Amino acid sequence: MPEQNEKKEWAEMACDFIKKAVDGVQTLQPYQPGKPVSELARELGLDEKNIVKLASNENPLGPSPVVLKAIDKELAELTRYPDGSGYSLKQALAEKLSVNVEAITLGNGSNDVLDLIVRGWINPGDEVVFSEHAFAVYPIATLASSGKPVKVPAKDYGHDLDAMAAAVTDRTRIIFIANPNNPTGTWLGREAVDSFLKKVPDDVLVVLDEAYCEYIEEPDYPDGLEYLSQYPNVIITRTFSKIYGLASLRVGYSVSSPAIADILNRVRHPFNVNSIALAAAEAALGDEDYIERSRTVNREGMAQIEAGLTRLNLRFIPSLGNFITFDTGMSGEAVDKALLKRGVIIRPITGYGLPDHLRVSIGTKEENQTFLDALPDALAEAGCAT
Ligand SMILES: *Cc1c(COP(=O)(O)O)cnc(C)c1O
Repeated sequence: MPEQNEKKEWAEMACDFIKKAVDGVQTLQPYQPGKPVSELARELGLDEKNIVKLASNENPLGPSPVVLKAIDKELAELTRYPDGSGYSLKQALAEKLSVNVEAITLGNGSNDVLDLIVRGWINPGDEVVFSEHAFAVYPIATLASSGKPVKVPAKDYGHDLDAMAAAVTDRTRIIFIANPNNPTGTWLGREAVDSFLKKVPDDVLVVLDEAYCEYIEEPDYPDGLEYLSQYPNVIITRTFSKIYGLASLRVGYSVSSPAIADILNRVRHPFNVNSIALAAAEAALGDEDYIERSRTVNREGMAQIEAGLTRLNLRFIPSLGNFITFDTGMSGEAVDKALLKRGVIIRPITGYGLPDHLRVSIGTKEENQTFLDALPDALAEAGCAT
């Protein structure tokens, strides 16, 4: 056992390491994930089967049999390193999206790609512009590189593109745009994005984060890929975590000019996407039946939850994602706590500057109903407590 003063010295030394961390990292708030089902089951002494998790915008259908078969086949190669170039998946993506293979960069989830973009272009003090209430990974990636986050106030919960364009300075290197945005579900139409891109200097990277685009049936929603030929500073990021149902395997990608992809590939860790994930993603890409079913379940579930919230007189923010954010009219955290007691996990978004709101992911019809059934009691309990 160390002596008392030795112990103190040790604690001080450990503290020094915090002060010595990279500047941006010192102010970094870690990402708050949704509560795992197993954790709540343990806390409440409940059976995992009786818990509904609608907290992380996951695909409620469970994995596709087509994907499971592809994974099974890949298991025999587990001792080998994956194909570091992701050749086969990139070919499949290039064909499906009608883009050149050289335009694609694969990531360990699209979060990885977002991080590669920041690491590729941000020197300490360089500015990264994003919106208030926008996806949490933008500030995390920015601060990890000691970039300067420039958070632009939102307009009606969504991105204020005029204000974002006006926030550009000669230190701005990257603008992140989530379309639609998570956690608000707000989205930008074609005209808004068109006129924004015209205004942004061509030496500033514009990242269009389209994690939910495959769900979208709204005709005015712009396909970011269409901007690539006109704007070499645009990067599209997409993911296999949402409609393709592979959140656990971590696969995402970007489409950009080959020059941008070249830089991203320099900062990319070798083998950043594992072989199981590569095989699963390629299979998922061609699984039209699963994609179509996911879209249908989401469309119907969204209508079901919107109707349920309306019946309870709760205001919600119209969403194009696989989730919806609503105003509890009180502390969102308190309502969340009351829902947890009833075995329903959704997401408080205080960290996104929306303390009265909660975000719920669209689940199966039964999961959505369990949530809607638990909500009135949870609101009553939280209302009494506060
Ligand atoms: C879910 C989500 C992603 C995807 O993250 P992955 O790392 O691919 O799982 C990216 N951007 C936004 C806005 C999201 O909501």
